Amino acid sequence: MMTIATLYIIATPIGNLEDMTYRAVRILGEVDLIAAEDTRHSLKLLNHFGISKPLTSYFDHNQQLKGERILNALRQGKSVALISDAGTPCISDPGFQLVRDAVAENIPVVPVPGACAAIAALSASGLPTDIFTFAGFPPSRQGKRRTFLSCMSALHGTLVLYEAPHRLLDTLSDIREVLGERQVIVARELTKIFEECIRGTASEVIATVSQGIVRGEVVILIAPGESAQQETEPLEDVLGRLMADGTLSIKDIAKQAAVISGVSRSEAYAEALRLKNDPD
Ligand code: SAM
Repeated sequence: MMTIATLYIIATPIGNLEDMTYRAVRILGEVDLIAAEDTRHSLKLLNHFGISKPLTSYFDHNQQLKGERILNALRQGKSVALISDAGTPCISDPGFQLVRDAVAENIPVVPVPGACAAIAALSASGLPTDIFTFAGFPPSRQGKRRTFLSCMSALHGTLVLYEAPHRLLDTLSDIREVLGERQVIVARELTKIFEECIRGTASEVIATVSQGIVRGEVVILIAPGESAQQETEPLEDVLGRLMADGTLSIKDIAKQAAVISGVSRSEAYAEALRLKNDPD
């Protein structure tokens, strides 16, 4: 039996219907109301799984009005499921404001995890996964896109972006221009029939992509740059700074130092312990 007045954030497949989870099907069949980004699109999915429930739309341009109605339903004790067209709601999809408002009213918010294109692409990329930044869609105008990319240039870890296929080549060119010849992967049509991963340096991927029209949905993954590693603050300095603060546990210090210095957590933890026991 499910909790009443709960907002469920439910992931749906990004292409392959077999990626729907048992739990998603069960909860969608139990809630009082389903809020969907595009009700006609979601109806096909719901019909496929034999789910028939009241549906309401919740998309970018009606978020304020619909958000208030959904909150009202929750206040009245109704359970609501939020789904988007594909993947995990709130990830480059509507939902964040609704979740924020529900949390502010102490309404339980329960994630029902499943497909997410960024995580699927990262998991099969072969690029470092210990630290990564997901930055959604880059701006569509070149000037803003280049500024956006230059803000990402010193980050540690893999950079994960979403992009529309018709902007892919322009964005790849800007990646090469701003971030240099890094390893790049274009993960296309994940979980679908024409799934492919195009791998290589930025120039190699540009050459492959230039050979034809890229159709379908794409995720771009960019390997960490050398400059990010060179500019890294030495581990000992970072640990010294964080320990001087005096408010953090050794575990938290190690966690933060690992991100700042680009080392593993275990290395940062061992060094933090050494410094604690032997500050000189
Ligand atoms: N909320 C979704 C998620 O969890 O991945 C993302 C929604 S966003 C509006 C759509 C973008 O996600 C697409 O433009 C593409 O960049 C990426 N995407 C979605 N499905 C994909 C797939 N099957 N293969 C590759 N990229 C995909």
